[in-house]
Amino acid sequence: MKSSIFERMEAHDYEQIYFCQDRTFGLKAIIVIHDTTLGPAMGGIRLWPYETEEEALTDALRLARGMTYKNAAAGIPYGGGKGVIISDPKRGKNEGMFRVLGRFIERLGGLYLTGVDVGTTVEDMDIIRAETRHVVTVSEAWGGPGDTSSVTAHGVFQGIRACLEEVYGNPQPEGRTIAVQGVGGVGSALVHALVEAGANVTVADVNQQHVEAVTTLYPQVQVVSPEDIHRLAVDVYSPCALGAGLNDQTLPALRCKIICGGANNQLAEEYHGEMLAERGIVYAPDFIVNAGGIIVGAESLSRSGFHPQRALKQVERIYQTMRNVLSYAQEQQIPTHQAATSLAEQRLAMIQQVQHLSVNNN
Ligand code: NAD
Repeated sequence: MKSSIFERMEAHDYEQIYFCQDRTFGLKAIIVIHDTTLGPAMGGIRLWPYETEEEALTDALRLARGMTYKNAAAGIPYGGGKGVIISDPKRGKNEGMFRVLGRFIERLGGLYLTGVDVGTTVEDMDIIRAETRHVVTVSEAWGGPGDTSSVTAHGVFQGIRACLEEVYGNPQPEGRTIAVQGVGGVGSALVHALVEAGANVTVADVNQQHVEAVTTLYPQVQVVSPEDIHRLAVDVYSPCALGAGLNDQTLPALRCKIICGGANNQLAEEYHGEMLAERGIVYAPDFIVNAGGIIVGAESLSRSGFHPQRALKQVERIYQTMRNVLSYAQEQQIPTHQAATSLAEQRLAMIQQVQHLSVNNN
């Protein structure tokens, strides 16, 4: 028997679920606010053709909770939340839908800040911005960072350096072999950084145009089929395509020393993180190293305005965060994904302790 909505909220202590409906523009959206201990909930809005409302709610709950940990680990003053729109990204989008959504978000008065996610774009965020200022990852014209894939790649690059330091005692990618799965926005920017740093890069993508865009720029980059990229004997395997790529099928075939990439939810199941640790493969938890976009999004809300160079410096902290995760995992003899979650929980608990002391802000 399925649990009730309140039972599911209680299970992981969700604060609020906000259902938004507009018949005229076909909007059906669910915004989940998981935890606001650190500040207003921040997390993008996903637009996906969910087959059922149940599927959409489950996804929103899972993603919102993930954002609490991601934001806590990234050291930004925001809690965890996420929105989903039940629609088809190819056919269902329209301006009215995003404007109405903007108005619903405005009603929350800043408790939830939205941004780009799967199925939505910077242009969609600009439409939302016309109705509410509680939206990040808007275009430069609106004072935002625009497309965040290159800053996300910059963060992944820092994660790779931290892992190389751990395994080889030297963070330099120069001369290292690195396989990148997926060369879309994040993957192609990562390849650029790695090639510039002197790494030997191999790529794979299901989209031939994306492969060609990379090899035209860097003829030295090697290409293998998407079925083989994870099998390569390399220093670093970098998943930058879809989630759940580390699973029962792919794991036995891995021959890399390090896994560090931008894709969300790389571990199909928790136990895959344990299997990687048992095999001695250093795994960089995705939510630690792909936080560049959210860090820059948070930075863009700064009272003094958006400063790209300052934002980039914040993203570079991912190197140290990843080093801390590796040290903690070593110290506690636990897999890295558990170490990352534990460090995020410790930060949440610390802030809760701080908040028990009341202050007079008037
Ligand atoms: P994207 O759609 O631009 O790129 C994904 C690429 O992966 C595409 O080129 C696609 O053809 C390729 N691909 C899909 N399936 C594949 C497969 N089986 N084998 C090889 N290639 C495959 O997306 P993106 O913005 O580059 O994001 C990549 C990943 O990083 C996603 O999981 C995303 O959720 C995550 N992420 C992105 C950001 C960001 O700022 N863009 C931030 C955090 C996390």
